[in-house]
Amino acid sequence: MLFIVDYRPGVHASSSVTVCLITYTKRFGQSSCGVRTTKRALCVSDAGKRGRGVFATTRIPKGDAVLSFRGKEKWIWAIPMELWQYAFQVDYDKYIVPRRHSYGWFLNHSCEPNSVILGRTGVVALRDISKGEEITIDYSTNVGWDGFEMNCRCGEIRCRRQIRSYRYLTDERKAYYGRYVSQFLLESKKA
Ligand SMILES: [Zn+2]
Repeated sequence: MLFIVDYRPGVHASSSVTVCLITYTKRFGQSSCGVRTTKRALCVSDAGKRGRGVFATTRIPKGDAVLSFRGKEKWIWAIPMELWQYAFQVDYDKYIVPRRHSYGWFLNHSCEPNSVILGRTGVVALRDISKGEEITIDYSTNVGWDGFEMNCRCGEIRCRRQIRSYRYLTDERKAYYGRYVSQFLLESKKA
């Protein structure tokens, strides 16, 4: 099957999002991007029931920087409610709304992610990521708002079904992520 994903030149001309032409095979690893790219090894493509997602267009070794959330940090009440689902928390009540159609906009959650948060806005590879694999993070590792609730259908064996703030992760899971969670959570006594 051949997908032309989100091909809107008018939008992408000023955006960091790549324009992808991906040939899907059963083995994701054989996907290839005919890409106009301004960033390293990523593109936005169809992620099935998760909507669109961010995919690696080349192998990304464990520990490598994958992407960084960019944008002005805003107080939550300055962000329109319809954009909350895209907002990336960087501090208590402070969020970045990624540029529309940027990688940060499309980055999906998994309960068994291949990438993790580093510092305030960084995302790094938790393990080696294969070419064609979707980039995911665990949303609980950057959420400090206890009212946050999101149903999950990531399909992983360890899927928590409901995603909540960092505080609700088990001690085992917190230990697993270690320092690879948002900086403000590490510094906070509330978490
Ligand atoms: Zn899940």
